[in-house]
Amino acid sequence: MKKINIAIDGYSSCGKSTIAKGLAKALNYLFIDTGAMYRAVTLYFLENDIPIDDPKAVKEALRQIKIRFFLDEKGQQHTLLNQRDVEKLIRSMPVAQHVSQVAAIPAVRRALVKQQQEMARQKGIVMDGRDIGTVVLPDAELKLFVTARPEIRAQRRYRELQKKGLNISLEEVRQNLSQRDYIDSHRQDSPLRQAKDAILLDTSDLSPEEQLKKSLELAQKALQAATDKS
Ligand code: C5P
Repeated sequence: MKKINIAIDGYSSCGKSTIAKGLAKALNYLFIDTGAMYRAVTLYFLENDIPIDDPKAVKEALRQIKIRFFLDEKGQQHTLLNQRDVEKLIRSMPVAQHVSQVAAIPAVRRALVKQQQEMARQKGIVMDGRDIGTVVLPDAELKLFVTARPEIRAQRRYRELQKKGLNISLEEVRQNLSQRDYIDSHRQDSPLRQAKDAILLDTSDLSPEEQLKKSLELAQKALQAATDKS
């Protein structure tokens, strides 16, 4: 059976990873959370006091970092930083507050984009992030650009963090999202943009089930088109 690659981009907390995980499960594809990779690099930089304005130190640090993913027995994805499970730590506020600055460093992007492209080579990948359709997988057979109203995104993220037991106020979440969105869409190197051939999906008024249904229909269509072409 023919396999395609699916690129999902958009602003913070608009439902990208829920859609990506749902699609990967339904299609039996591999889900790759590229935001987790930038968060893991940020955690390493924070823990090891790497000065982000020192290109030599950044380059050396990148050489020391190995990021892997694994699925636990419940099917939940965990991020490993140098073999340590950092899934909870990378979602913490200190990481959220620094990740966009780290992700704006060209050397960091080059290192991670290379790994992401290698992961996607065998097809059957659903990858979510900010530059997947524009830079990482410009040839992806389906590109979605997901969006939602800012207040809805803040509420969703707040509930998600509460569920994970992280004690952060709604106001802090709101500020963090707008700060990250600003930096992510204004940086010089691969800013967040909707790819020309990406389909816009506004999830503001859609339930998670409706979001998945719509995305799956688009994926089936893209898969059919790719099959017809080959
Ligand atoms: O997706 P998530 O919100 O976990 O991403 C965290 C941060 O990582 C983003 O705000 C952005 O700064 C960075 N990122 C990026 N490019 C990607 C994925 C994430 O710059 N492909």
